[in-house]
Amino acid sequence: MKVFKFGGASVNSASAVVNMAGIVEQYRSEPLVIVVSAMGKTTNNLELLLSEKTGVADDWQSTLSRLKDYHYEIIDNLFGADVEEVRSKIDHFFRMLEEQMQLASFDYNFNYDQIVSIGELVSTTIISEYLNHIGISNRWLDVRTIIKTDSTYREGKVEWEMTQSLANKYLQPMIDSCGIVVTQGFIAGSLQGTTTTLGREGSDYSAAILSYCLSAEAMIIWKDVPGFLNADPKYFANTKKINTIPYNEAIELAYYGASIIHPKTVKPLQNKEIPLHVKSFVTPQSEGSVIRNADSIDPETPLYIFKNNQVLLSIMPKDFSFIAEDNLQKIFGQFAKMGVKVNMIQNSALSFSVCMDNKDVVFDRLIPVLQKDFHVRYNNNLQLITIRYYTSEIINSIVGERKIYLEQHSRVTAQLLVSEQ
Ligand code: ASP
Ligand code: MG
Repeated sequence: MKVFKFGGASVNSASAVVNMAGIVEQYRSEPLVIVVSAMGKTTNNLELLLSEKTGVADDWQSTLSRLKDYHYEIIDNLFGADVEEVRSKIDHFFRMLEEQMQLASFDYNFNYDQIVSIGELVSTTIISEYLNHIGISNRWLDVRTIIKTDSTYREGKVEWEMTQSLANKYLQPMIDSCGIVVTQGFIAGSLQGTTTTLGREGSDYSAAILSYCLSAEAMIIWKDVPGFLNADPKYFANTKKINTIPYNEAIELAYYGASIIHPKTVKPLQNKEIPLHVKSFVTPQSEGSVIRNADSIDPETPLYIFKNNQVLLSIMPKDFSFIAEDNLQKIFGQFAKMGVKVNMIQNSALSFSVCMDNKDVVFDRLIPVLQKDFHVRYNNNLQLITIRYYTSEIINSIVGERKIYLEQHSRVTAQLLVSEQ
């Protein structure tokens, strides 16, 4: 049994869905669980319906009607004269969304999960119906009945035992009886029966959770790149494909911000030694990359991770006390409270420097709160570069003339915070 994950880009148009179905056709002789994201940029557009300040966005109705039209065009192209049944199924979800919009209270995170989750419910309905339409028989599963989380909206924590037992009881028999199951990434159900999500780009994690619970023989992520590259081609001209990556290396890369894989995805797979393949949906026959048990990456080559839009805060106590444990506790307490993730830190006797993503919360809430007890200086428009297997020549050629704000080296990893190019 294999678990497939198709992201938004692999199903962003009718022709993309046809291509995706062609891949499923190649594998249909074996049992499959197919995890699918929302189509194209749907999640971003669903986010536009809501406003953190006012609950619903002023122009939500026009945004929603554009989203409906986007999906209607896809189904018209896929189903032709037979479109009515699918259309009524997806209209059911859009109606649920509209009801939620009317009810939307000021609990932004809660509303977010009830509303944004519709993207995956709609995409999987279309995919499941289309596969059946062309003779690849399958069943649609509402994953909220299997993957259970606590009610931390927008970042649900998985209730593993409950999820495992629901998977054994309902999902495994479903696979045994019908071979192919199509279900949603990203979304889950709370114990109270509400919808939760696992965090943006969480569909990889969904596929890993299901792979773990079903003891899959492999998980395959189908992407628009030929596999795992040693750098993001957006930032780097001469990328190289990595064929094999040990689990721990992949966890490190995700930790440093490699965007190819969701940070939480690898651990459940490693625990059961399930290989994770990254393959191209454009050239599905080619080898791709695999994350598995191995001693080192192959080929051995430097790996680059670039994170833009970083801000560096330099925090100094107002009362001339050293930045000691109690100060650090106060500072980190605020980070945790505001959900700010720290990318790099450096402590000295007089100040504490911390690099983080430049998000609204940093300037709107974090800095004002810290300023009660500390002097806070900041630099923004910075880029955090992480290089695994670095050499000093490599660092020099990447940094060039740019100013370095912070720099840290361990045996295999160099991190440099520099001005953006
Ligand atoms: N659709 C969700 C997102 O765009 C989940 C995912 O694609 O992994 O964040
Ligand atoms: Mg997506």
